[in-house]
Amino acid sequence: MVQQITVLSGGMGGARFLQGLMHGIAAGTLPGVASDAQVTVVANTADDIWVHGLKVCPDLDTVMYTLGDGIDLERGWGRREETWSVKTELAEYGVEPTWFGLGDRDVATHLVRTQMLDAGYPLSAVTEALCRRWLAPVFGQGVTLLPMTDDRVETHIAIADPETPSGRRVVHFQEYWIKLRASVPAEAVLFVGLDDATPGPGVIDAITDADLILLPPSNPVVSVGTIVGVPRVREALVATKAPVVGLSPIVGGTHVRGMAEQLLTAIGVEVSAAGVGLHYGSRSDGGILDGWLVDERDADQVARVTESGLACRAVPLMMSDHDATAAMAAAAIELVR
Ligand code: GDP
Ligand code: CA
Repeated sequence: MVQQITVLSGGMGGARFLQGLMHGIAAGTLPGVASDAQVTVVANTADDIWVHGLKVCPDLDTVMYTLGDGIDLERGWGRREETWSVKTELAEYGVEPTWFGLGDRDVATHLVRTQMLDAGYPLSAVTEALCRRWLAPVFGQGVTLLPMTDDRVETHIAIADPETPSGRRVVHFQEYWIKLRASVPAEAVLFVGLDDATPGPGVIDAITDADLILLPPSNPVVSVGTIVGVPRVREALVATKAPVVGLSPIVGGTHVRGMAEQLLTAIGVEVSAAGVGLHYGSRSDGGILDGWLVDERDADQVARVTESGLACRAVPLMMSDHDATAAMAAAAIELVR
């Protein structure tokens, strides 16, 4: 019986997948998974940004609000029934960044987080405190949310800028995604602080002690890529006794939403379901996966993936509702049973 599931998650893609996973656990539709299975989420923190003196952790918050039913369903991020007075007032002062979406309800989360960080608590302890409001009432002890590290790590993107002497400019990932809409080519992706980061409390144990590890269809570069880039995480994935299965965020040759295509191109990985699976690689060959699910539209790529030693199947991979997403989780588990 699978009792411990660990999921390496980014923001929206990871959170939606987790919703379906929890739905499948509750409904008993996941093969071999106990009805009281515990889920540990190791979340990316390299998207984190300081805005107006506040520490904002977009992926942690997206997972927390989504699972805690506080998310704005249409936007897929931030709080439901949000108002924007703080943002409007800040813009009246002309203070940058005016492009960052800081909602009034959301600000409370960032105020609590920043206050606790200022008082000396590590991000992991802050996250635990925030989750007491959002996750404990819904799941009890069933879901634990862990930042990948307590250290400051930031993804930066190098873009072309003919007006600078080097012809290049480096922007924070959030500026690339939100302000520039990922509309200019990414020349390089830089993970500031990643090499010196220490895994957050519980992160390595969550990988080592799991019965099953799932990589949701999160961004392979700036979500899963950063988590796996935390020193010792890759080694733990390679060594764990648990099977590791991933689901492709690339469907039909591009991302379903977001900017994975631009970033995969920047790091020289083929933008395809097979390309990402082979980039993660088979554990039988020094990689981190035992199995890889691709969408049914990419069924012609299954053979290529299988040849690398990975179990692979093509199934519907669109997270259109909880049932469809739970079926994806079930297929992932079936692949390595
Ligand atoms: P972010 O931090 O908010 O960007 O979220 P993640 O990194 O967790 O997930 C982003 C990825 O989810 C993108 O690369 C999308 O292609 C992928 N994605 C979003 N919706 C779906 C879906 O319904 N199916 C699949 N297969 N991928 C999806
Ligand atoms: Ca993210």
